[in-house]
Amino acid sequence: MSTSEKEPEAKEERFVAVEEDVSSVEVPEELGILPLRGVVIFPSAIVPLLISRRSSLKVVEEALAGDRMLGVVGQKNPEDEEPGVEALYAYGTAGRILKMLKYPDNSVRILVQGLRRIELVDYIQVTPCFRARVRLLSDASQPSKDLEALQTHVVAQFAKFVSLSPYLPDELQVVVMNIKDPGRVADLIASNLNISVEEKQELLSTLEVQARLQKLSVILSRELELVELGQKIQTQVQSELTKNQKEFYLRQQMRAIQKELGEGDSRTVDIEELRKKMEAAQLPQEARKAAENELDRLRMIPPESAEHSVVRTYLEWLVNLPWAISTADNLDIPHARQVLDEDHFDLDKIKDRILEYLAVRKLKKDPKSPILCFVGPPGTGKTSLGRSIARAMGRKFVRLSLGGVRDEAEIRGHRRTYIGSLPGRIIQNIRNAGSNNPLFMLDEVDKLGTDFRGDPASALLEVLDPEQNNTFVDHYLDVPFDLSRVMFVTTANLLDPIPPPLRDRMEVIELAGYTEEEKLQIARRHLIPKQMRENGLEQGQISFTDEGLTHVIRHYTREAGLRNLEREIGALCRKVARGITEGHTEPVTIDPARVHDFLGAERFLSEVAERTQEPGVAIGMAWTPMGGEIMFVESTKMTGKKGLTLTGHLGDVMKESAQAALSYVRARAERLGIAADFFENLDLHIHVPAGAVPKDGPSAGVTIATSLASLLTGRVVRHDIAMTGEITLRGKVLAVGGIKEKVLGARRAGITTIIMPKRNEKDLEDIPDTMRREMQFIFVDTIDQVLDHALEPRNAPPG
Ligand code: ADP
Repeated sequence: MSTSEKEPEAKEERFVAVEEDVSSVEVPEELGILPLRGVVIFPSAIVPLLISRRSSLKVVEEALAGDRMLGVVGQKNPEDEEPGVEALYAYGTAGRILKMLKYPDNSVRILVQGLRRIELVDYIQVTPCFRARVRLLSDASQPSKDLEALQTHVVAQFAKFVSLSPYLPDELQVVVMNIKDPGRVADLIASNLNISVEEKQELLSTLEVQARLQKLSVILSRELELVELGQKIQTQVQSELTKNQKEFYLRQQMRAIQKELGEGDSRTVDIEELRKKMEAAQLPQEARKAAENELDRLRMIPPESAEHSVVRTYLEWLVNLPWAISTADNLDIPHARQVLDEDHFDLDKIKDRILEYLAVRKLKKDPKSPILCFVGPPGTGKTSLGRSIARAMGRKFVRLSLGGVRDEAEIRGHRRTYIGSLPGRIIQNIRNAGSNNPLFMLDEVDKLGTDFRGDPASALLEVLDPEQNNTFVDHYLDVPFDLSRVMFVTTANLLDPIPPPLRDRMEVIELAGYTEEEKLQIARRHLIPKQMRENGLEQGQISFTDEGLTHVIRHYTREAGLRNLEREIGALCRKVARGITEGHTEPVTIDPARVHDFLGAERFLSEVAERTQEPGVAIGMAWTPMGGEIMFVESTKMTGKKGLTLTGHLGDVMKESAQAALSYVRARAERLGIAADFFENLDLHIHVPAGAVPKDGPSAGVTIATSLASLLTGRVVRHDIAMTGEITLRGKVLAVGGIKEKVLGARRAGITTIIMPKRNEKDLEDIPDTMRREMQFIFVDTIDQVLDHALEPRNAPPG
C-alpha cells in the first residue's frame, strides 16, 4: 500500500492526523523492531524520531524498502546503547513511517504514525537488527453507562489540565471532545502528557479500556495537582515582589526624611564598622584590595536588594579570618614529652617518633616537614594523640572528617555566583580555630571519595603541599590564604585506600591496638578518671576491681581500640551517679557481679569451643581495618566427583591458597591415613563464614589445609589453637604479615596457643612481655608440623 498521497507535511498540525481512525490498517505478522528510548508511541499518534544507532537505521531502511511498517518498542533503560531482547518491553506499537529525512551526519529523522498495539511473541532475528513475530492486540471494552461516565470525567479532567498547562495548546480540548471511541480518547490523552515512560508503558499494555481510563484518571488528578501547586507558587512570588518594591519606595522616602531631619544613616555606620574590622585584621595586599572593592560596592547597592546581603556576608568572612593571628609555638621537647605522657599510656615508640618530629621542626626553621599520618583501628588514640600534640605545642586544635567527602567544593568552597555559597571546610575550620597556625587534623583520609563534581583528593593535595599551600585559593574567598603555617595531621584506618600521591607526602605512624593488660592500665589511668569527671562523680564514690574491669573488657567489648570500653565505663558511672541522686551514698565497688547487674547479660560469649566440636573446623586469624580477628574455616564433604566449592566472599589469592591446600592434602593422603583416591568420589566445600566481609590474602593457607585434613581424617582441631601462614605445594609454611594485630585479636577471642611461620618469630618483639608469657607460640616450617600440633588424636573426645 502506498501512503505517499496521505503523507502529511512534518509541520502540519499533528492533531489533525490524530483524528484519523487507523484501526483498520492491515499490519503484517512479522515486523522489524525499532527500540525506543524515552518515548512511547500510542496508536494513531504521530511522532518524529531521530535515528542514529546503526541497528535502528537498518530497521528503518528495511521498512522503507517494503511496506513502511515497523514495530516500535520501548527499552527499559534509555541509557542502554545496545539493548538485548530482554531489555525491551513486551508490548509495543505497530507503526508506519510517514516521512523520512536524511541529515549530513548520517542520522535520519522519521515521522512515525502509531497504528495498533502489538505483543512481541518471539524474536526471529537479533542481529544486525531486531525482527519479531507479533500478535495484534485489540482494545477490550463493552459499552456501558459506567464507561461512558468515566470517559466524560477523564475528558473533563484533561480539558482542565490543558487550560492550566503551559505546554499544551488549547485546541487539544476540542479534539478530545470530538472523539467517540473511549480507547482512542485514553491513548490521545496519554500520548500528550509529560509523564514517565513506565507510566505510559503501563497504559499501553492495559487492553481493558475501562481500566486504562481509570489509571489515566489517577495520573491526571496528580498532574492537575502539580500544575495547580506551580501556579500557586508563581502568584506568591509575584505578590512578594510587589511587596518588596513597595518597601523599597517607603525606605527611600524614609531616608529622604531622615536626611532632612539631620539623622545619621545606619548604613554608613555599618560600613564604617566593617572597615574598622578590616583594618584590624591586617589583610594581605590582595585580600585587602578585594575587600576595599567590595566595600565600595556595598555603598552603592541598596540594602534591600539580595545582592547587598551577599556582598556583606562575603566581607564578614574576609574580615573575620585570622589573617594575622598566630599562636607562639612551644617546641620544648621535655615539656612535649610530659604532655604526651600525661594524656597517653605507653605508646613509647609512637611518642618517640612524635618527639623526633617536633625536634626536627625546631631545628629546621622552614615549615616543610612531612605530614604525620596515624594509621590504626578505631579507638586506638589517633585523635587524642593529635589533641595532645596541639596542647604540647600550644596550638589551637581543629578537626575535619573527610569520610564521604566526594565533592571538591566541600574542600575548596563554591564560587560566589552560587546562591547561598560558602567557603570550603578548610577555610571554615581556620576561622573556627581563630589562628592561622592551628593543628589541623584531617580524619579518615582513607575514606575520601571521588565523583563527577571533581576530585577532592587533588584539592587536598594542594592543601597539604608546602610548595603550593601558601597561596591556597578558596573558590568563595577568591583571594589566596596562606596555609603554610598550619600543621596538618591525618588519620586513617587503612593505609591502602589513601591515594598514592597523598601517601607520599605523609610520615606514617601505625597504632596496632591494645592488649588486655594495656587496656586495663589505660582504663585505670585515663578512662575512669575522665568518665568520672564527665558524670560528676567524686573520688571514692566508685571504684573498680581488676576482675571487674577485665570482665568488662572480655565480655562486653571486642575491639582493638578503646571506644566501647570507654562507653561501657561511662555507662557504669552513670548508673552509680543515678544511684547517688536516689539517695544511695555508700561507695560502689565494681566487680564482675556488679558489672553483670549494671550492664546486663554478657555480650560476647566464647563461641570458639562450641564451633570446633566437629572435624573440619579450624581457626585462622585475619587482619581487618578494625584490628585483628579470628576466623573460622569450615569444610564439608559429600559424595560427588572431584568438585571443590569455595564460599564466603573469598578473594582470588585466597581461592588459590585453597587449591594449593587441597593439592597438598591429596599428595600426602597416605601419611595422613586417608585413602589415596578419596577425591575420586567426593565433592568438597570450604566455607569461611561472616560472608559479608570480603577476605583475601595467602595467610589462610595453613588453616584451610588443617580444616581439610581434619575433615578427611575425622580428627577434630584443638579449640584453643589459632594459626596463620602461607603454604606451598610442597607443604612449606611461608611468612605472613600483620602478626601483632592477629595475635591481639586471637587473645581477645580467648585463644591461648598460636601456630605461626618460623620466619615470623622476629615479629613477636612487638608483642608485650606479659602477653608472650601468657600465650604459647609454636613456630613451624612445614604443614606436617602444623597438623601434628593442631589435630587431636583420632577418636579423641572433642574439646
Ligand atoms: P581514634 O581517634 O583512634 O578513633 P580516640 O583518640 O578517639 O581514637 O580514642 C578513644 C579513647 O581512648 C579516647 O578517650 C582516648 O583518650 C583513649 N585512648 C586511646 N589510646 C589511649 C592511650 N594510649 N592512653 C590513654 N587513653 C587512650
